[in-house]
Amino acid sequence: MQADHGHHHEHSHHHSHEHSTLSEMDLRVRALETLLTQKGYLDPAAVDRIIETYEVHVGPHNGAKVVARAWADPAFRDWLLQDATAAIASMDYTGRQGEHMVAVPNSAETHHMVVCTLCSCYPWPVLGLPPVWYKSAAYRSRAVIEPRAVLADFGLSLPAEKQIRVWDSTAEVRYLVLPERPAGTEGWSQEQLATLVTRDSMIGTGLALNPQEAA
Ligand code: FE
Repeated sequence: MQADHGHHHEHSHHHSHEHSTLSEMDLRVRALETLLTQKGYLDPAAVDRIIETYEVHVGPHNGAKVVARAWADPAFRDWLLQDATAAIASMDYTGRQGEHMVAVPNSAETHHMVVCTLCSCYPWPVLGLPPVWYKSAAYRSRAVIEPRAVLADFGLSLPAEKQIRVWDSTAEVRYLVLPERPAGTEGWSQEQLATLVTRDSMIGTGLALNPQEAA
């Protein structure tokens, strides 16, 4: 179960195998779950509740509220950039895989994107469960080697002069991209702004929507 994965990145030779055998892993998890349930160690309803929590109740809408608030409230933005863990926790988005958060702000000069090269570390409390492509070997390897080409595959062509910085997540640190606030949103409420913040814009494989795209 992913909730329990706390890997150590120095064991890279293990990781390269771990993810090519997901279905086998799945079967092993399922078998273990059955065994533990039969022995009375595990309540299947509790497991279902954890999964439902991250599939339904936690999702990118949490991160979108964090970003919208940072756009609208300079003091919150400063706090987020200095201590993302505390700033995000103040909005009650805490829990598994979000114990130490770092927010990286996109600007006119720099575009940030996030990957976990070894597996799929991801900021669950603000983004929910990672998309399938985030866990793919192709994304994990290419994001670091040729980020510009990967972004182009996502339909995002950045000007050549814009610097791209790639952040490799670990079990210890999870990154949240703070996308640039779109033009034409002056005077918008935080609720309105949040509708422009996509999941991919917080991973860095996209930009926030502009008002025309969102309409
Ligand atoms: Fe990972």
